[in-house]
Amino acid sequence: MAASPRPEPTRTPGADRELRVDRGYRRRVHLDELTELMATTYGDRDSERGLASTIAWLTEEMGELAQAVRKGTREQQLHELGDVLAWIASLASQLGLSMDEAVSRYASGCPACGETPCRCPDMALS
Ligand SMILES: [Zn+2]
Repeated sequence: MAASPRPEPTRTPGADRELRVDRGYRRRVHLDELTELMATTYGDRDSERGLASTIAWLTEEMGELAQAVRKGTREQQLHELGDVLAWIASLASQLGLSMDEAVSRYASGCPACGETPCRCPDMALS
């Protein structure tokens, strides 16, 4: 039997709006956009609960991600990764920090040695 037809991903002229209907994810979201999205969607509730509660939820979601990595399906891993990123975005929002700015220190290679790939001694092996 032939596979059912899948809608093709589409783009709007703004470039950032790529739709990913094939996997159920609606569009690509950049990190600062994710922060705004989480602030708009959950900001009032998250701020009311406060930073300590956000850290607690983030930690719980990290545990769920670890479990999904160990014995979950790809879909479960994606789900938990999304939850972790959403809580990190909520934390960034509450702290007034830019996630794009936070990751920019990795944009030119390893922040310690400046190389891509990193040429730092592997501390895990020492
Ligand atoms: Zn390095």
